[in-house]
Amino acid sequence: MTCVIAGGGPAGAMLALLLARSGVRVTLLEKHADFLRDFRGDTVHPSTLRILDELGLADELLKLPHRKLRDLGMVTDDGEIRLASLRRLPAPYDYVAFVPQWDFLNVVTSAARRYPGFRLLMRAEAYDLIRERGAVRGVRYRDESGEHELRAELTVAADGRHSALRGRAGLVPRELSAPMDVLWFRLPWREGDPEETFLRVSRGHMMVGINRVSYWQLAYLIPKGGYDRLAGLGIEALRRPVARLLPFLADRVGELAGYDDVSVLTVAVDRLRRWHRPGFLCIGDAAHAMSPVFGVGINLAVQDAVAAANLLAAPLGAGGPVPESLLRRVQRRRMPAAVITQAAQRVAQNVLISRALRGRFDASGLPRDLTRVPLLNRLAPRLVGFGVRPEHVRTPEVVRPPARG
Ligand SMILES: Cc1cc2nc3c(=O)[nH]c(=O)nc-3n(C[C@H](O)[C@H](O)[C@H](O)COP(=O)(O)OP(=O)(O)OC[C@H]3O[C@@H](n4cnc5c(N)ncnc54)[C@H](O)[C@@H]3O)c2cc1C
Repeated sequence: MTCVIAGGGPAGAMLALLLARSGVRVTLLEKHADFLRDFRGDTVHPSTLRILDELGLADELLKLPHRKLRDLGMVTDDGEIRLASLRRLPAPYDYVAFVPQWDFLNVVTSAARRYPGFRLLMRAEAYDLIRERGAVRGVRYRDESGEHELRAELTVAADGRHSALRGRAGLVPRELSAPMDVLWFRLPWREGDPEETFLRVSRGHMMVGINRVSYWQLAYLIPKGGYDRLAGLGIEALRRPVARLLPFLADRVGELAGYDDVSVLTVAVDRLRRWHRPGFLCIGDAAHAMSPVFGVGINLAVQDAVAAANLLAAPLGAGGPVPESLLRRVQRRRMPAAVITQAAQRVAQNVLISRALRGRFDASGLPRDLTRVPLLNRLAPRLVGFGVRPEHVRTPEVVRPPARG
């Protein structure tokens, strides 16, 4: 095997597709049985849509039920504030598509299956690295039939923010602060509800609502570590503010029977100083866990995968090995995007979220329409839509039977 990737999330699935597409033998290990899991984020930004377009997959994804977000705003106690309009971006990808993450992953892995070098092992959990002569030479994983070894020229940890493999490689992320955790839950969508995804900010409270066609996927932000206290007060302590912030949901908050209907996201923001070892690379959340602010984690993970494939497909296509200097180049290319995006997220956390959760956010003095500020109107849509360093697919499609060995 030339490359083994642990983790079938956006980063791992995209890297596996790009490598297989350029003729590399690649195995993707995913510890779950399918991609149909709890809510993990839905936002596919223009930068990712463009990558899917470059791969001929955008139409396939956009045929699936999804919603488009073009105007970003915030509903406050003092009325609505327009933050940015993506309509300024070049068509056709002048919006954020809200697509369930399992649909995105199914489209990407189905495309990868068309290439002979691709292999996907579900229910396969990577738990250790094989090391020989100072370099990583593959993974040890377990599935229903027992424990196995898979040797590879390159091992990629795309196993998310609790990455087991980066720990096995002795890489420890530096924690950056986040003032909040997030409670995720669903309530039904009903005729007469607003159509659009929204951000609701009030003194002491903050919520996001994503219209998932038949239901609302709702996020209620709480101060970091505040879940036990809230849960101790009973489910009414959640139902009450939701009904007050979003009166159109007051008729159905009772459907939240208890905290079993609620998932808690402990928000982590962290980053590795070094993403690689000889024969080993971390990408996506395994290298830099993102705050949910701006909903860009999926997009950064995908961009990491594209950058990694652009740099590594040729040596891997030739059968490897990959010099560590190339792995360092992947980190050098992607680190600035992670650093700048996390810095922007932390500004938003401090200026808006911390203040809102402490009851100190006052929108009365803010301009109602930031899209009228020329510089902001030019920059904000590009930053939201494309991020700091958008990548393009540079790897060729090489369809040939994989080399043996
Ligand atoms: C509740 C929630 C809401 C979010 N909302 C958004 C949003 O709206 N927009 C957005 O852009 N981002 C959002 N994010 C963040 C986003 O989901 C991540 O940044 C993004 O998915 C990172 O992609 P990844 O591929 O690096 O890691 P992940 O998506 O975490 O994928 C890692 C994969 O590896 C698998 N895995 C883990 N360990 C192993 C192992 N040992 N062996 C094999 N497989 C393993 C996991 O099952 C998983 O499939 C949200 C995250 C959460 C938790």
